[in-house]
Amino acid sequence: MNLRSLRFRLVLWYALWLGTVFLGTGALLYFAVGQYLEGNLARSQMSRANRVAALVGRLGEVSSNQLRMEITADFAPEASGRFIRVSQPTGTVLYQSGEPADQSFDPSQISPPAGPGVRREKLAGGPEMMLVTVATAATGGMGYRVEAGEALTPALTELHRLLLSLVLGFVMVTIVALAGGYVLVGRALQPVTDITRRAEGITSRHLSERLPVAPTGDEFQHLCEALNRMIARLDEAFQHNRRFLADASHELRTPLTILRGEMEAVVQRRELDPAVQETMNNLLEEVQRLARIVENLFALSRLEAGLASPVATRFDLARLASTTAEQMCLVAEDKGVKITCQTPQPVMVEGDPGRFKQVIVNLLDNAIKYTPAGGAITLAVREQDHKAVCEVADNGIGIPADALPRVFERFFRVDETRNRESGGAGIGLAIVKAICTAHNGHVEVNSTAGSGSCFRVCLPLSAQT
Ligand code: ADP
Repeated sequence: MNLRSLRFRLVLWYALWLGTVFLGTGALLYFAVGQYLEGNLARSQMSRANRVAALVGRLGEVSSNQLRMEITADFAPEASGRFIRVSQPTGTVLYQSGEPADQSFDPSQISPPAGPGVRREKLAGGPEMMLVTVATAATGGMGYRVEAGEALTPALTELHRLLLSLVLGFVMVTIVALAGGYVLVGRALQPVTDITRRAEGITSRHLSERLPVAPTGDEFQHLCEALNRMIARLDEAFQHNRRFLADASHELRTPLTILRGEMEAVVQRRELDPAVQETMNNLLEEVQRLARIVENLFALSRLEAGLASPVATRFDLARLASTTAEQMCLVAEDKGVKITCQTPQPVMVEGDPGRFKQVIVNLLDNAIKYTPAGGAITLAVREQDHKAVCEVADNGIGIPADALPRVFERFFRVDETRNRESGGAGIGLAIVKAICTAHNGHVEVNSTAGSGSCFRVCLPLSAQT
């Protein structure tokens, strides 16, 4: 689970918020019920104390026995689990109820009254909490204090039960909120996942595609529409760029061809001063290099614009590779590099053989250029994982790790000085990539600086048998 995802954070906030509301409500309920229970108990005890006080007042001259009989008859404190005590301010106790039938408290432990009102009292030697109310009575010129009390434990037990229910409820609500929230937020964010997946598929080659817009009228519809407008603007800019490149290279081809022809004619002249001839030769070389770059750019721009739609012919890539390698053997030998060809069996693919030849030539040409004398190049073609694989491996100078991700970019050269000497302009691999992409394939590279490189082209096998 991604802890930074919007889904996780929304669910967490939602659960936290719900939990806080539940906790707040639960705490309020708990204290309100506690107050209500205790207040109720206090009121009924106070009314009982007042009734006993009235009884004491009616009796006039009070004798202990008489008081006991009257109170037992009217209130039966032992049977009902209550406490009643009548005493004089001097401390003389006229009446005190006995131990209750449920033995929930020991009356002798209850301390003497301090004054009228309600008090909570924790009995020594037991868990009991008593609630005792004190009323006053006067008769026969004598004042009395009448206490009525009851154990708080039953009310507290109820309160604890309520607390337990609240805690259980809290746990359940949190779990349900988390699970429900996860599902709901997941559903709400599904369009974002869809938009992301579709947007990832729209590369510079698929800018004509658009995101699907569901007419929901919500924020996602507006987002898709805004993204589609942005893709349309990008598409236009890319097309403009490609058209410009194709037009510019096309326009440059004719004057360059004329220039080269004229210069070749001048170089042929015998009467030329040797110094001028050498300069002309150098100029001719530069013009030829320029013409190659322009040709490559023209080819690349047409490929990227999808104008050079490949001729779909079924052919043997292994055979094409071995004949191309044979043709390039001489160049390699001149450089002191050996090319080994491993094409044990035919590998049938579909596409334009001319363009695939260019792929192999570019890769072999690079391998020869960047492998010092005495080095070895291997060209292998095979079927692997239902794909046609063409590999060009060398044990040359290799490519530094930081340059690897950029080698297929136009005009990228690892070492500009060295490449200029070898005549490369940094377009060869861009053409390889464009041709592979146009044939639904791809090209990748593994290389270690100082140990060599391996370029691997993967293409779909021909579906025909
Ligand atoms: P160039 O025409 O300059 O060779 P490429 O597009 O063919 O341009 O290659 C881009 C860069 O990748 C080259 O400048 C070179 O530094 C590097 N490169 C390509 N192939 C190899 C290789 N087999 N060994 C080492 N470096 C290579």
